[in-house]
Amino acid sequence: MAEYNGTGASQEIYDIIIIGSGPAGYTAAIYAARANLRTLVVQGDEIGGQLMITSDVENYPGFEEGILGPDMMDKFEAQAKRFGAEMVARNVTRVDFSARPFKVFTDDATYTGKAVIVATGASAKWLGLPNEQRLRGRGVSGCATCDGFFFKGKEIAVIGGGDTAMEEALFLTKYASRVHLLHRRNSFRASKIMQLRVRNHEKITVHYDVTVEDVLGENAVEGLVLRNVQTGETETLPVQGFFVAIGHQPNTDIFKGVLPMDTVGYLQTAQFTMTRVEGVFVAGDVADHRYRQAVTAAGDGCRAAIDAERWLETQGEVSEATTLPAEEWGVASEILRAKAD
Ligand code: NDP
Repeated sequence: MAEYNGTGASQEIYDIIIIGSGPAGYTAAIYAARANLRTLVVQGDEIGGQLMITSDVENYPGFEEGILGPDMMDKFEAQAKRFGAEMVARNVTRVDFSARPFKVFTDDATYTGKAVIVATGASAKWLGLPNEQRLRGRGVSGCATCDGFFFKGKEIAVIGGGDTAMEEALFLTKYASRVHLLHRRNSFRASKIMQLRVRNHEKITVHYDVTVEDVLGENAVEGLVLRNVQTGETETLPVQGFFVAIGHQPNTDIFKGVLPMDTVGYLQTAQFTMTRVEGVFVAGDVADHRYRQAVTAAGDGCRAAIDAERWLETQGEVSEATTLPAEEWGVASEILRAKAD
């Protein structure tokens, strides 16, 4: 049944193929491999996911002194390998979920799995300025919850006009002496309640109709060049931190037309963590625009692996009995079939 595999990787059919190697993917791998399921993680181009571009992670339970994002992901990977999860450092280019076992394609190989967990995450959108990228981790950030703590008593700016920008600006007032909220139009798209909180906050100054032309500073952010879109005038805003909150993009291009997703592209589940395609599960930011935390993604990975294991057993695919409510999945399957019809 296994297809030619140009890499020489295993010709076997995996019990579970996990696509993605952030906290969700690796946690799913830990649970799946530890449950004695033959598990493959197709890690993608950005091994370790968004945490690889974060500095200190101080809010992941168990690391009371904090831990560097890349170090944490090394530990996740090592833990999954310890239980026998296999890893391939390749990017998935295409999937075929039209028949079981499912097929997952990379440039030079095809992997076959009885169940798939999609944990491809999301990517923060950036403005695309050269100095924005150069100063990432040195004052430029895409995550207030992750990095806000480092800006105690400092003056900072947030760009964006949606709920994320409002939320980040409000959160950052806990640390910063002043938060400048920059928006390219003169009205926010955020919910009214969030707008109200922002406008009424004494520490937040709102700048409408501005774009950021450049980020200033050699080794750390020292200021921003703002351009007023009405007058065309530019000015320098001296800040030590710059939070880009212009939205996230879920990494779901390869699932278009294959898995149900919302208008933005976030994957949708049908029952527990399973999608409408029976046997395909989702975990982490790829289906979550709300929490987007390492710990919630890891929790999702755990849930997806348990769901996948239980589902496989109902299919007669797992020999060892587990403590699963098989009837529940029976009901779930009926619901899914009804929805599909
Ligand atoms: P949104 O897409 O809602 O907002 C993005 C904002 O960034 C917009 O104001 C947009 O401007 C601006 N923007 C986009 N590109 C650029 C650019 N290149 N330069 C300058 N500004 C730019 O994303 P969010 O992440 O804010 O929200 C995503 C979803 O998640 C929404 O549905 C939101 O409601 C939800 N959410 C809910 C929360 C909650 O309920 N607590 C918290 C966070 C998010 P413009 O308005 O001009 O297009």
